[in-house]
Amino acid sequence: MRFARARTPLGSTVARAAPSEDNRLPMNFCSNCGQPVTLRVPPGDNLPRYVCDACDTIHYVNPRMVVGCVVEWEGAILLCKRAIEPRHGYWTAPAGFMECGETVAEGAARECQEEALAEVEMGSMVAMIDVPHVHQVHIMFRANLREGRYGVGDETLESALYEEDDIPWDDLAFPSVRFALEKYLEDRREQVERLHVTRVERMKR
Ligand SMILES: [Zn+2]
Repeated sequence: MRFARARTPLGSTVARAAPSEDNRLPMNFCSNCGQPVTLRVPPGDNLPRYVCDACDTIHYVNPRMVVGCVVEWEGAILLCKRAIEPRHGYWTAPAGFMECGETVAEGAARECQEEALAEVEMGSMVAMIDVPHVHQVHIMFRANLREGRYGVGDETLESALYEEDDIPWDDLAFPSVRFALEKYLEDRREQVERLHVTRVERMKR
């Protein structure tokens, strides 16, 4: 996952932020005019926003989407060992931040290409995970590898197909990855395709 681009990645700086700043990314200057911004509730609003008094721009900050896939090939699951922080060296399903102009499914397929050089046939959505303390929503799809081909993308140290019994559960990068894998495998055993929804809380440290 390309969490490294987040300024408040999972289990990182946000864990030490003051409660009043807990649900937003820091902003110092207006991206429209370059003047300092202040954090306050604008007229008619009910939440604090970064407001620029020089040009009257209100900078709304909203949660971001992380999209990815549980990729299967002949019963095995494709995982990538992360080459970037956070969670360098831990295993993940291919996933990352959604880009503007693409659908969630297109983004999820793109991440498979970028992280594992994997062309995938997209399937149904398997999990939606709210991660409110880092202002993210993770959406994971079922997918199948086309022709069994995969490789190692720039953000990946190693890619591998894991049989269910060999999945490195203790070395997974993120709780949302664990949830998606568990539910994917649970549904596969029962030969159903459900959508599983959960909420991930802040990691204890
Ligand atoms: Zn401004």
